[in-house]
Amino acid sequence: MPILHNITERTAYVPGANNLGVVLTGDGGAIVIDTGLDKDTGRMVRRALEEARCELRAIVSTHHHADHIGGNEYLVRNVPGVVVCAPRLEAPLVENPLLEPVYLSLGASPPAALRTKWLMAKGVPVNQIIDGNTCEIAGVTLEIVALPGHSIGQVGVVFDGVCFAADGFFGPVVLAKHGIPYAHDVAAQLAALDRLAARGERFFLPGHGELTERGDLDAALAANRAAIERAATAVCDALTAPGDTFEIARRVRRILGLTIAGLPQYAIFTSAVAAYLSYLEARGTATLAMTDDGAVWHGVA
Ligand SMILES: [Zn+2]
Repeated sequence: MPILHNITERTAYVPGANNLGVVLTGDGGAIVIDTGLDKDTGRMVRRALEEARCELRAIVSTHHHADHIGGNEYLVRNVPGVVVCAPRLEAPLVENPLLEPVYLSLGASPPAALRTKWLMAKGVPVNQIIDGNTCEIAGVTLEIVALPGHSIGQVGVVFDGVCFAADGFFGPVVLAKHGIPYAHDVAAQLAALDRLAARGERFFLPGHGELTERGDLDAALAANRAAIERAATAVCDALTAPGDTFEIARRVRRILGLTIAGLPQYAIFTSAVAAYLSYLEARGTATLAMTDDGAVWHGVA
């Protein structure tokens, strides 16, 4: 079975835990949208394109998370001349992946447990910054959809009737597995769902989940909104008594009945809870105050 699955005439993807998008340039070239977790997924992209007799010309990194940029370094090392493209706010983190465990460590030099490939890919120089609503890459004009929220400057890519939506939404099965869909900015994440809902492409490919036809998109987006609402409610419920961010995260974990497998997952979970606290503060339902116990969150009735 071929590795590359066709979507439309000029688009395809490599399905997996991380779906990797492919845009065909029409003259024997290909642009890959995200490269997966590590050199193995990078190698898979290379093999998939070799099988399809396509030459890799460019990589679009939709956002800096390690499971989306982990194959970059292998591909840049093995495919001469490949151009790496990333959104303006994501590019510094694509180039310097240490910044991901740094921000998950309150800005400190991260402990060993957070210097894993799940949080820290190998960096590559970004050759082209993605800005605005369209982008000319490898001779092809791609439409760019701003999807910040899950990360600071995430984008989706639209071409030939397909919206490669990155982590702008998650498939329902993936959502059910996670207590809180990871958020950097919850309000922006909700706005990104609205932006996807307004689109009319035939197909939507999430970074994690099934290729989704337009007719099934609204249900998938509704499941994402419901997961965000559920997480916001859990964080509100955790604020019935004051507590610092880590205490609130502990309570949210209990409320949602989550088991957290290890330190990287704990760091990601705590960061997501912090995003919800800022979201509730902006909505006027939580406040942060300096006390003798440090920075403490209070719920506002
Ligand atoms: Zn992500």
